[in-house]
Amino acid sequence: MAGRTGLVLDARMLAHDPGRGHPERPERLRALVDHLEGAPGLERIGARVATEDEIARVHSPALVEAVAASSRYTRFAFDPDTMTSPGSYEAARLAVGGALDLCDAVLAGAIRNGFACVRPPGHHAEQGRAMGFCLFNNVAIAAAHLRARGMERVLIVDWDLHHGNGTQHTFESDPSVLYVSTHQYPYYPGTGAADEVGKGAGAGRTLNVPFPAGFGDQEFARAFDELILPAARAFAPDFVLISAGFDCDHRDPLGALQVTTSGFARMAHALRTVADETAQGRLVALLEGGYDLHAIVEGVDTTLAALRGSDHVPPPQTGDARRATGVIDAVRAAQESYWPGMF
Ligand SMILES: [Zn+2]
Repeated sequence: MAGRTGLVLDARMLAHDPGRGHPERPERLRALVDHLEGAPGLERIGARVATEDEIARVHSPALVEAVAASSRYTRFAFDPDTMTSPGSYEAARLAVGGALDLCDAVLAGAIRNGFACVRPPGHHAEQGRAMGFCLFNNVAIAAAHLRARGMERVLIVDWDLHHGNGTQHTFESDPSVLYVSTHQYPYYPGTGAADEVGKGAGAGRTLNVPFPAGFGDQEFARAFDELILPAARAFAPDFVLISAGFDCDHRDPLGALQVTTSGFARMAHALRTVADETAQGRLVALLEGGYDLHAIVEGVDTTLAALRGSDHVPPPQTGDARRATGVIDAVRAAQESYWPGMF
């Protein structure tokens, strides 16, 4: 079985319904189920409901109780963007549990890597606060779980359009988790400046690459080649997690970045290569945002192809590498004392 790629795809997460007209709608997962159900060559991993103890590795008991209590209401609003329905608590626990089971299948050697098609997304959820469409922070809980299972260094790369404030804050003082984010900036949620580099023992273990609107494949490629991959290789993770949001796709209705399928292929291939080099291939990608249904389906397909071993990386389609110089110089200036001679 070693070498196979796992897939978490569970229609029970359709039950989270944030309301009519909300971009984080059940149709996002429906499109993936319709496209991937029965797809050959993937090891299906069933989602399970995460336990409160697992969720409490990252979140306060008060937040877990508040999300649980929200299931008593037809509609409950944690903030103007973050609404629940009676099925949301169960869906949120399935999203976490699916991510954890996929990680455990990788640790057990049953699969080499995998993709979890989960919703609601997670990376905005803070220790004590649901926000930004997110109830529980799936990727942060997965990283905490992996640490508890003996992984010493976990790399999280978050290529979602938005900065993963919740993930950054969870690990900003923890040197065992390197959090890397590319994101549109300034934009929601407002965090993710180049000079946010971690705190205390975690200083130098947060790497933010804030991109202005309009950046695309070429700028992402430079950021990966000149900043992210050198740092990832120096960190030498023993597990790689991807917060795989597809709202940085050029078709997305919420974002203004211009990544194409070529860009996603390049990023996924690069991270699979890092996992192969330092982590015996151990890698799990989790769905975050992405609000154009074609972009999500193509993005997940492209990522799965890279995880399954494809070395096909088409040339960049959008962007201008020269425009990235200012951002790369700012990130380098903020980071270089933590990665001597690396950049
Ligand atoms: Zn997003």
